[in-house]
Amino acid sequence: MNAPAHTLNRFLAEAKPSATYKVMDRVAARRAAGARIISLSAGEPDFDTPAHVCEAGIAAIRAGHTRYTQVAGLRALREAIAAKFQRENELDVDWRNTLVCSGGKQVIFNALAATLNEGDEVVVPAPYWVSYPEIVQLCGGKAITVTCGAESGFKLTPDALRASITPHTRWLILNSPSNPSGAVYSRAELQALAEVLLVHPQVLVLSDDIYEHLIFDGIEFFTLAQVEPRLRERVLTMNGVSKAYAMTGWRIGFGTGPSWLIEAMEKLQGQQTSGACTISQHAALAALTGPQDSIEQGRAVFQRRRDMVVELLNQAPGLHCEVPQGAFYVFASCEAWLGKTTRAGTKLNSDEDVVNALLDEANVATVHGSAFGLGPYIRIAYALDDASLRQACEAIKRFGQALAD
Ligand code: GLU
Repeated sequence: MNAPAHTLNRFLAEAKPSATYKVMDRVAARRAAGARIISLSAGEPDFDTPAHVCEAGIAAIRAGHTRYTQVAGLRALREAIAAKFQRENELDVDWRNTLVCSGGKQVIFNALAATLNEGDEVVVPAPYWVSYPEIVQLCGGKAITVTCGAESGFKLTPDALRASITPHTRWLILNSPSNPSGAVYSRAELQALAEVLLVHPQVLVLSDDIYEHLIFDGIEFFTLAQVEPRLRERVLTMNGVSKAYAMTGWRIGFGTGPSWLIEAMEKLQGQQTSGACTISQHAALAALTGPQDSIEQGRAVFQRRRDMVVELLNQAPGLHCEVPQGAFYVFASCEAWLGKTTRAGTKLNSDEDVVNALLDEANVATVHGSAFGLGPYIRIAYALDDASLRQACEAIKRFGQALAD
C-alpha cells in the first residue's frame, strides 16, 4: 500500500527510487516466474571475493570480533586505508582523517547530509550514477546536471564546469572511471578542472574513485586531490573494496578529506548506522593489506570482455558504442532504434521502452541511459562470464535486426 504523500518527508517524496535496483528487482521477479534472463543490469563484479579475504571474515567471527567497532571504523583498517591512499594515490593521509562506512553510498550520503542546506547546489556531470542526484535531493540540495555528451567523451569540460558554478554551488561530484560511461579523466583534464575550482573556494569536490582499478589499455589512474594538492582541503576522496576486491555484499566504503568534514560525517554516522559491520571490516583489512594480484587478474578479464562486448554490440544494426576506458559498463546509443517497432509489436519511443522490450522480448536486462541523465542510451554491465555475454549480445543483435520502421 502506498503511504499518503503528506506522511512522507517532502525530500523523499520527490526522490526517485534507485533505477539500478528497480531493474534488478524486475529481473528477480521474472526469474522467480520461471524466465531465463541474462542480466547485464547489476554493476558488480561476478568474481568470488578472494579466498584469503573470506577467511579473514570467518576468522573474525571465530575470534569473537562480533561487537561494535568505533563509529569511524577499526583503527587498523583506517591505518590500512591511509596507507592505501599513500601507496596508490600519493595522498599523505593521517588515519584519523579517514572514515569507514557501510558501502560507498553511505560515504556520499554522509558527506552531502552533513553539509547541504536547503537549496544548495551540487554540480553533477551527466551521464551520472543514478544515485547522485537522488542523494542530493534527499539531503535538501539541488542537483545541477551538466550534460556531457559523446562529443566530449562523456566528460565535464572546464568551460561547462565554469558555466555551472553559482554562488550557491556547494559541491561538484566527479566519478572516474565513470559509471555508466566508463570515461576516465586524464591528469591534464583533472588539472584543467582544478584551475576552474581554484577560483571558486566555496566548492567542495567529491571524487568517487570506486572504479579506480578497473582501468584499461595501460591508462594511468589519477584522482583530483593528487593532481592538485591546493585542493586537498576541499576534496573528499572516496573509494571502497566492492569493485576492486569483488566485495559488493560486504558493504565497506571509505573516504578521506578535511578533518572538519570527516568529523561531521562521523557525527552523523554515529546517530545512524554506527560503525560498519565488524566482520566486514576485518575482511576489508585483509583485502587492503594482503596479496593484491586479484586486482590485476580482474582488470585483465574485464578488458578482454569489454573488447568482445563492444565488438559484438557494434554489429547490432542501429546500436553504437565507443570503447570505454574503464569500469565494467558499455554505454551504447540506441537513438537509431527510436520510432521503430519490435517483432512483438512494441513501438520504441524512448530508451526506457528499449530496455523494457529487451527484457520482455530478448530476455536481456539492461538499464536505460535516461536514468543516468543521458538518453537515448542503454547501459550494459559486462560483469558476467563470456558465454553469457556472447549469448546476450547475440540476442540484442537479433532484437535489432528484427526492428521494423
Ligand atoms: N553501482 C552499481 C550499479 O550502478 C550497483 C547498484 C547501485 O547501487 O546502483 O549498478
